[in-house]
Amino acid sequence: MFPPENKPFLRDGVTLRLGIFGGTFNPPHVGHLRLAEEVAPLFGLTRILFIPCHLPPHKSVRYIAPPEDRLEMTHRACADNPLFEVSDMEIAARGPSYTVRTLEAFAARRDEELFFILGTDSLREIHTWKDHERLFSLANFVVVTRPGVDFRSAWAELPASLRAQFHESGDEMIHGTSTRLMPAPVEGLKVSSTLIRTLIREGKSIRYLVTESVRSYIMDRKLYRQ
Ligand code: ATP
Repeated sequence: MFPPENKPFLRDGVTLRLGIFGGTFNPPHVGHLRLAEEVAPLFGLTRILFIPCHLPPHKSVRYIAPPEDRLEMTHRACADNPLFEVSDMEIAARGPSYTVRTLEAFAARRDEELFFILGTDSLREIHTWKDHERLFSLANFVVVTRPGVDFRSAWAELPASLRAQFHESGDEMIHGTSTRLMPAPVEGLKVSSTLIRTLIREGKSIRYLVTESVRSYIMDRKLYRQ
């Protein structure tokens, strides 16, 4: 049962709300950082956990940097924001990374209200994720607009059987288990990891699209040149 009836996630008068931000982070860029920064106050998040996956089950990207490099870059990207934390749980678990397993682990702890953060590009294909019927019972979902896909059209593309698990309430979709699927009205930045990798392959600058700490790591390790 989520949220647990007897636990209002309160500590010292503050409701603990955990933002869970899963991704390939190949590499992490200012679009990721900016969206987390904007989402946090909108939903009263008390921390945001960036979780780089080990193997993304859905992505067919030409080149994925080793998990240890993506983890180190994510640490570097998040280093100067006290709200941001990084977890190696999916990388340490090895194998394909399934969001449902990650959310189950946090839901079992029952100590923070969970908000999974994703882009509209991810929402529109969420019905291909493992155990997707279970996903929405485990956490609230906060959806950030990516170029070309707004919340409503991503929602409309989902299978009718999945949409039937929700009812609409204003801008939000309320799940049968009372978790919420919500659009996040944020400005965001039109930056993607694909853009960063392309620029590097073409020998162009990525300065200001990633943190300087991530840029220097990519240069030192000669990542994304092939
Ligand atoms: P790629 O270009 O390789 O597909 P990406 O830039 O989408 O990568 P991911 O690590 O796959 O980065 O993204 C993790 C999550 O963050 C996804 O849910 C994605 O939709 C979202 N996201 C990434 N960049 C942005 C951005 N600029 N604005 C909003 N959401 C973003």
